[in-house]
Amino acid sequence: THVVTDSCLRCKYTDCVDVCPVDCFKEGPEFLVIDPDECIDCAVCIPECPVNAIYAEEDVPAEMMQFIEINRRLAPDW
Ligand code: SF4
Repeated sequence: THVVTDSCLRCKYTDCVDVCPVDCFKEGPEFLVIDPDECIDCAVCIPECPVNAIYAEEDVPAEMMQFIEINRRLAPDW
């Protein structure tokens, strides 16, 4: 899956949402998350993000590892 990290906070530019072929971005009050059960790892969203907040799960920097769980936990509720 791909993961949205903390640079998305208060960004919500949503170009990533427009390009996602499976519509798996979920929009919360302050940032977006990706539903890990729907993401097909196409990676087209990565270059669309103006703040470089999106990573493949295996590439998430160590200091942002908690966002893997945050995306997984919040996406089904949004
Ligand atoms: Fe959507 Fe592809 Fe990004 Fe996954 S990697 S969130 S399927 S655009």
